[in-house]
Amino acid sequence: MTLKEYYETLGISPEVYDFATEIEKGLKDRFEEFDRIAEINQMKVLWAMQKNKLSEAHFNATTGYGYNDLGREALEQIYADVFKTEDALVRPQITCGTHALALALMSNLRPGDELLSPVGRPYSTLEEVIGIRPSCGSLAEYGISYREVDLLPDGGFDFEGIKEAINEKTKLVTIQRSKGYATRPTLSVDRIGELISFIKNIKPDVICMVDNCYGEFVEEKEPSEVGADMVVGSLIKNPGGGLAPIGGYICGTKKCIENAAYRLTSPGLGKEVGASLGVNEKFLQGFFLAPNVVNSALKGAVFAANIYEKLGFKVIPNGTESRHDIIQAVEFGKPELLIAFCEGIQAAAPVDSYVKPEPWAMPGYDSDVIMAAGAFVSGSSIELSADGPLKEPYAVYFQGGLTWPHVKFGIMMSLQKIIEKGLAKI
Ligand SMILES: *Cc1c(COP(=O)(O)O)cnc(C)c1O
Repeated sequence: MTLKEYYETLGISPEVYDFATEIEKGLKDRFEEFDRIAEINQMKVLWAMQKNKLSEAHFNATTGYGYNDLGREALEQIYADVFKTEDALVRPQITCGTHALALALMSNLRPGDELLSPVGRPYSTLEEVIGIRPSCGSLAEYGISYREVDLLPDGGFDFEGIKEAINEKTKLVTIQRSKGYATRPTLSVDRIGELISFIKNIKPDVICMVDNCYGEFVEEKEPSEVGADMVVGSLIKNPGGGLAPIGGYICGTKKCIENAAYRLTSPGLGKEVGASLGVNEKFLQGFFLAPNVVNSALKGAVFAANIYEKLGFKVIPNGTESRHDIIQAVEFGKPELLIAFCEGIQAAAPVDSYVKPEPWAMPGYDSDVIMAAGAFVSGSSIELSADGPLKEPYAVYFQGGLTWPHVKFGIMMSLQKIIEKGLAKI
């Protein structure tokens, strides 16, 4: 069979195939640039693995207390070397990104300290961690106050406002790299560096933490190379490479990681305990694959941006903008389009392709939400996935894709569903 025939067997019509192929042809230069970044990051990871003499023995499982878990120690040193930090905490006991961020905050702040977000409201799950929305066990309950300074209307930093907000209590600054579900632009590593320098000029001993979710390996360098004291993220996003079945990481200064480790386990125990139960191999192999997986996700994001921009929809980022995370948003303006898009992503999945996603009232949201995911790892958003709230502007947010051919197929399938329902014309 030819490629076109394979696509037809899988439900892609010749007209969608031809349209998508034309779009792909125009993306050669973008793809080359992504390949170049992936190559740099692949060498970075390989270098760290060789430097730390990664060996088969590191894949052995530990149980119980997990003393002398050599694989865990090698893994953490490899992360520290890749992120160019003094130390790292990379654990299956860190259950997700929110947990990693909460851990970094709770372990490095003390009662009476203040936390500052100079880039506006953080990711929604952090509202409960901080206590912006009252919640059991929040930082607010421990007497840790919080301030935020919004970005300017043009997306720039409000330097004056930030300067005013920094006071004698300010202990930690949290900077979210990715836009998440907000409409502001994602921050480049260079812009994060600029912000950190500004803050450290005012108060040199303040801890600067970056929520690095969805940003790892998108650029040649990470925020920890431009002054961040801690970078934090989830292993079921970029750095897990699709293989990590759970986990989170914090890379940073010795002191910050020490604080986090004593909080994660216990005072007196710190990094010395925490059995890895055999997941080290997946963590390491996933980290090895991650630069290439992120490359696929980036290609998919730009491919989709160009397809839907061509059809007249607003896409964020737009088809030509530089990329600083793997998330792509498309504003559809109509619920039927959003639903059809998600049906297409689901139908393209390797797992659960036969189910139809339905909007539902998910806890914590103020409208119905539709989600499409057919992943090997439950909830993994480095695998191709999409979701969107059923409210104006009916935007879908999608990300991930372990291989470029699969993301390409997923996007084509989303378009196929939209065309079949007569919701757009090509
Ligand atoms: C995903 C995400 C989080 C939270 O991670 P979970 O693993 O879903 O808990 C925090 N911040 C940003 C920017 C994210 O994208």
